Amino acid sequence: MSERPESNELNLELTESQKAAISRLGRDENVIPPPIALARDAVLRNDEIERMHAQQDPAGFWGERAAAVDWMRPWDEVLRFDPPRHAWFSGGKLNASVNCIDRHAQGDRRNKAALLWVGEDGEEQAFTYGRLYREVCRFGNALRRLGIGKGDRVVIYMPLVPEGIIAMLACARIGAIHSVVYAGMGTEALRSRLIDSGARALICTDFTWRRGRKIPLKPTVDAAVRDVVTVEHVIVHRRGSRPGDAPVAFESERERDFYDIQQAREIHCRPEPMDAEDPLFILYTSGTTGKPKGVVHTTGGYLVGVTYLARAFYQIGERDIYWSTSDIGWVVGHSFIVYGPLSIGATIFCREGVPDYPTPDVTWELCERFGINIMFTAPTALRMWMSHGGETPSRYDLSRLRLIACAGEPLNPEAHLWAQKYLVGQSHGFIVDNWWQTELAAPVLGTLPTFEARPGKVGKPMPGVVADIVDATGKPLPDGQGGLLVLRQPLPYMLRTIWNDDARYCHYWNQIPNCYTAGDIAVRDAQGYYAVLGRADDVLNVAGHRIGTADVEGSLLRHPSVVESAVIGVPDEIKGERIKAFVVLRATATVSPALISSLKDHVRQDLGPIAQPAEIEIVASLPKTRSGKILRRYLKAKEMGEDPGDLSTLAD
Ligand code: AMP
Repeated sequence: MSERPESNELNLELTESQKAAISRLGRDENVIPPPIALARDAVLRNDEIERMHAQQDPAGFWGERAAAVDWMRPWDEVLRFDPPRHAWFSGGKLNASVNCIDRHAQGDRRNKAALLWVGEDGEEQAFTYGRLYREVCRFGNALRRLGIGKGDRVVIYMPLVPEGIIAMLACARIGAIHSVVYAGMGTEALRSRLIDSGARALICTDFTWRRGRKIPLKPTVDAAVRDVVTVEHVIVHRRGSRPGDAPVAFESERERDFYDIQQAREIHCRPEPMDAEDPLFILYTSGTTGKPKGVVHTTGGYLVGVTYLARAFYQIGERDIYWSTSDIGWVVGHSFIVYGPLSIGATIFCREGVPDYPTPDVTWELCERFGINIMFTAPTALRMWMSHGGETPSRYDLSRLRLIACAGEPLNPEAHLWAQKYLVGQSHGFIVDNWWQTELAAPVLGTLPTFEARPGKVGKPMPGVVADIVDATGKPLPDGQGGLLVLRQPLPYMLRTIWNDDARYCHYWNQIPNCYTAGDIAVRDAQGYYAVLGRADDVLNVAGHRIGTADVEGSLLRHPSVVESAVIGVPDEIKGERIKAFVVLRATATVSPALISSLKDHVRQDLGPIAQPAEIEIVASLPKTRSGKILRRYLKAKEMGEDPGDLSTLAD
């Protein structure tokens, strides 16, 4: 991959649209009070007291929260903090799969539904906690028999199928570190993650369903893994075993079938005792360098955090049916499809496929049929549903739906108000925003059901969070002024390092000394509500997915006709942002519609459909600083019709 060094440059100059947003936010239009029943039944009835407790005695506060998790050995010390290092629950031992399954399967919840799954083609499966226990144990034993054990990395390239969740929990059970790669990613994205993690095993599915079509995943796997020598086993979950379908053929001796490697009667699997600070998973995300960033989350603090926030923020109770429309390939899928809700013994509902296929009302039909109580979704999805009109959800009985939480990108007031009216209006439910990141693994800022919702603003810091807005030198900024969003205290559920690249981890705490810099620009109002206005670095957010400009530029550079490229995000009504690429061609290449398609296809194959540029403009040269750095800001301002400034001054 083409790499550029981690950039120290954060662009704190607000764009015209960000300035306009701040002045609009100052007016606080359309404030929505919380529904009385929701506020009355809120898990955190008095968030101020909880916040004060966490501030005055962080160790005491998190120690109490940790009691909600089962430990094999109690911890010696809740927190040791010496920036950039922080360790939580040192000396404690636990196993995440025991917390998510055994403690329910061995008690009164054994016959309760843990997972209800629906495929895009209508197939349905149900797993009680008892069945989930047996499936996870069988697969955990199969992995152990292959020689996979504590600390080994296992990459999972599977769509949202029960086997994907079982694979994650089986890794957790035997202490292997899973790294789920979103099954929509392309060959190079998968290959670079296999190499960086040093994976010993890769678990994949042969195909996924998307808009009624079978999308084969095996060819991507074959091409990605072919020359990765660390991978000893490729375990294929073959779905093509329905009548008339031949199972996908194996390519090499290292390939095995997901079910064939399991053995009868192996329904118990010894859980590996893990240190609280042992890694639970690596999840790759995009940064500014073009090299994937392996965010490392540990076992103890992570589980304490997601267990606490599943209840305290998302209000998930063990009697609820909870649906997250995300995917196991993203951090939401880890924290709030798998670990958080299962840890508290809730019922999770999952569906493979896009939320508007086969019809735009499929989501509401399923909400009605399954009696969904709580939902997590992305603003992009709200905007998509909004584009189909309020009629569609109004045809269904959504009276059980009491909370929809949105995260991943800014929730625009129009979509917020629409969703409040048409999706939860009939149930007196509530739409809430929350802000976090792959690195932070659970809500950090958000609107609790005891707060009024202020569309355009995310909400306030969660208990234990010490957030601030600062300028580029770290000086705190007054309310109403946009600046860098930082955290002054660590959280048990935040990353500990970047796999294979600890210096890159230290960078989070070095940009503003002794603070965690999130990379976002935000503003706070006098009531303590934060609004997140966008990134301060070269990272895009397309439909809630984080994409580094460097990733897309690097991919374009691997196309034989390209010499240079620059990528920017431009506003998109549904996706929030879409990708526009400026490309300088080799002298031998000629511009044609076929070449543009070939460039788009190339990025799609390489990185996956989410990274494919929506638009490509062929240019003779790119604007640059004198030291040769591409001026993406200049290109963006021009594209937006704003004054881009004088190129000769910007180039200095
Ligand atoms: P990811 O790590 O892929 O989840 O992306 C995290 C980034 O998404 C953040 O740094 C923000 O830029 C953006 N983001 C996430 N949640 C929100 C939100 N509620 N409002 C605004 N931006 C958000």
